[in-house]
Amino acid sequence: MSEIFQGSFTQQEPIPEAGIEAAIAVMRGGRLHRYNTAPGETSETALLEQEFAAYVGAKYCLAVASGGYAMATALRALGVKPGDKVLSNAFTLAPVPGAIAALGAEPVYVGVTEALTIDLDDLEAKIGEASVLLLSHMRGHIVDMDRLMAICDAAGVRVVEDCAHTMGAAWRGRPSGRFGAVGCYSCQTYKHVNSGEGGFLVTDDPEVAARSIMLSGSYMLFERHDAAPSPEAFAQIKYETPNISGRMDNLRAAILRPQLADLDTQCARWTERYQVLEDGLRETPGLQIIPRPEEETVVGSSFQFLLLDWSGDKVGDVLARCGARGVELKWFGGAEPVAFTSRYDSWRYAPTPSLPKTDRILAGIIDMRVPLTFSREDCAQIARIIKAEVSAVYQAS
Ligand SMILES: *Cc1c(COP(=O)(O)O)cnc(C)c1O
Repeated sequence: MSEIFQGSFTQQEPIPEAGIEAAIAVMRGGRLHRYNTAPGETSETALLEQEFAAYVGAKYCLAVASGGYAMATALRALGVKPGDKVLSNAFTLAPVPGAIAALGAEPVYVGVTEALTIDLDDLEAKIGEASVLLLSHMRGHIVDMDRLMAICDAAGVRVVEDCAHTMGAAWRGRPSGRFGAVGCYSCQTYKHVNSGEGGFLVTDDPEVAARSIMLSGSYMLFERHDAAPSPEAFAQIKYETPNISGRMDNLRAAILRPQLADLDTQCARWTERYQVLEDGLRETPGLQIIPRPEEETVVGSSFQFLLLDWSGDKVGDVLARCGARGVELKWFGGAEPVAFTSRYDSWRYAPTPSLPKTDRILAGIIDMRVPLTFSREDCAQIARIIKAEVSAVYQAS
């Protein structure tokens, strides 16, 4: 009888006790709104912003309602207007083009390589089409940031980094989110810290920071932000900037602060699990491991591999056989969007370009979550199951 994996791919760890205690204290106090403070009190949200700014080494940080909200706010703060084009990844998640569409702007998709990162040759070819790139470090794969920034800087293109999957990751030791003008992060349950929903935006640019704070719904209380530029930065901006409410609240901030304190430990645990999966899947016939460059500090909160140039039917067989043994895999090659997984040609509110090289890769991308409730033994078992099923389908062909 072949082994069956019993774990749940969507089960995260509990909130740390310190976060639960802090959340209860906020609820007992009744001051859940970030600007509702007792005399002399600094709100949990303002403290969290200082701590996150320090964690990534940014001058300014704003905590918001979601990662998608952070990205849309960053684009607005950079002056993207309705009808403008914004460069972005063809391989990403729906909130990324969604953030562009939220402004009435239009995504221009850049292709993906076999490393699952943005195709820098394609980016170079399209760089003249927009003045902003919304760069998604999709599933934690970090592109050569030196070359990417050189291309964008030479063209005067400003970069917003979507770090939903790279909180805690780095390129040549520099934290992801600290290369472009703005870094955006998500605190949604499936990311690296969990407050249900939530997000951050970080920047060193005082104008972008001031605009973002006003946009998020600070009213004239922007002086209650500590990870913010000085009040002079708001002198004009406070009149010019609409309030598009999307603040974080003190309850979520209270849950997040102890998680942020633990983040490096958690990232190391993810990476251990990733290594076990990678080692277990090496030398599987027909299966391509994604190379990770040595400049990259990986946070392995999810795992991908390629079944490149496999027929859709064969990929479907692998998914079904693994699923029957408890291993839940996602596929980016499906014709229809399913659950969290969709492709650039499903986002029909925006023009769909022809990207044949990208289509070939998307058709082979297999993806799975690696929650920290999985032990290393679990990961070894998952790898054994995938290896056996991929081999069986491959050899039958
Ligand atoms: C989750 C996610 C986001 C933003 O998520 P929210 O749910 O809005 O916090 C952005 N980009 C990617 C790639 C994501 O997976």
